[in-house]
Amino acid sequence: MRELVGLCSKCGKELFCMDGFFNGVHTDEQKILCYDCLEQEGKENKNPQS
Ligand SMILES: [Zn+2]
Repeated sequence: MRELVGLCSKCGKELFCMDGFFNGVHTDEQKILCYDCLEQEGKENKNPQS
């Protein structure tokens, strides 16, 4: 089962929830990022989700 969650707020890639696993990360209530963009953001500023 695959469900479209939304688009990466940076690169616009489609992010899906597959069998309960989301292949992206919620950065705040509105935005989601793919792992590629998350990695790039993480290198620039450290803002870990707690
Ligand atoms: Zn992205």
